[in-house]
Amino acid sequence: MMNQREIFLRHVAQTSPAPLGLEISRASGVRLYGKNGEEYIDLIGGISVANMGHGHPAIIAAIKEQADAYLHIMIYGEFIESPQVQYAQLLCSHLPASLDSVYFTNSGAEAVEGAMKLAKRVSNRTQVIAFNRSYHGSTQGALSIIGDEYWRNAYRPLLPDVMHLEYNSFESLDEITGRTACVFAETVQAEAGVRAPSVEWMKALRKKCDDTGTLLVLDEIQTGFGRTGTLWGFTRFGIVPDILLLGKALGGGLPMGAFITSREMMFTLAENPVLGHITTFGGHPLCCAAGHAAMQAMLSEKIVDGVEAKGALLEGLLNHPMILEKTRCGLWMALRFDSFETNKKVIDRCIEKGVLTDWFLFASDSLRISPPLVIGEDDLQKVAGIILSVLDELTQ
Ligand code: PLP
Repeated sequence: MMNQREIFLRHVAQTSPAPLGLEISRASGVRLYGKNGEEYIDLIGGISVANMGHGHPAIIAAIKEQADAYLHIMIYGEFIESPQVQYAQLLCSHLPASLDSVYFTNSGAEAVEGAMKLAKRVSNRTQVIAFNRSYHGSTQGALSIIGDEYWRNAYRPLLPDVMHLEYNSFESLDEITGRTACVFAETVQAEAGVRAPSVEWMKALRKKCDDTGTLLVLDEIQTGFGRTGTLWGFTRFGIVPDILLLGKALGGGLPMGAFITSREMMFTLAENPVLGHITTFGGHPLCCAAGHAAMQAMLSEKIVDGVEAKGALLEGLLNHPMILEKTRCGLWMALRFDSFETNKKVIDRCIEKGVLTDWFLFASDSLRISPPLVIGEDDLQKVAGIILSVLDELTQ
């Protein structure tokens, strides 16, 4: 008889020749527990999903309550489903007035797809611009705009009329013209290893889009919900996008994405053709109930207020000659080592010692630190101690 691991490798589709393959039986707060009781402090948070920690009681209660009421009842947008209505209202009440219409999707990539379609409709243009080392998802359209040739190349032909520019480069902005439908930018580049652009550059990008009538789409799928120290990452730059993309923590642990814009622009998806973006499960009541509860808990527990101090504390503790560079934004950090090989050794040993981490897609030499934002100071101290002890071991 095959054991669970063998069945996983045999029947669950593999997208990596070497999956981490940890078997987790329970998760609570900032900890994951293996089937034999092994304990891991979670520095990944499901890739910036579990911002409120695992198994938050308010989220679990909301899921149970909604499960008792109803699950899927109709395709997106036809029935008035109170979890959707309440969550859209809560989101809009914490966004600038121009972002007042929420299209809930099933994933981040689907939000990217919807935004791309919307931008083409609104602008009547076709060119889409994105940035090198940006990640936006794995569906065919999202893949076309991600900023890494290794991941794009095998799936050609991709979408036509896509151009990639250098992120945080003023010269590259000259490429945005009157034929550009939209520019997709991560507010802080996640998979490049937590790379924040300058405030001046973001403002210049906004201005260039305004001057050319181009829509600015900010991908806040990783930066949203407090990760960078403010509820939304864009506020630190003093700009407002035309379309905002959310995902990851949006669903409080359940699958969800959203593209958000003005009601006026969103309405182009309702006409000629009607049903301009269709999804069966988008805005699923269970996901909306969970996401709504997560956001309410984040606000009422004032979690975002503590994010910057926690990040600064951890950054201050993590000093070691092996760390070549630290990049940080809020409670989100990349530690760069001399190679992927070194990084992998650090990661493997951290996991053995009970700290769960990994590397970044476009920065394999950098260790990911994106814990649940509810992590306490004692656990931050513990995590830093373990990482430093691993680095000392590897130095000997
Ligand atoms: N955009 C960013 C910045 C992401 O990090 C991700 C996922 O990692 C996506 C988009 C795609 O989201 P999803 O995996 O839910 O399709």
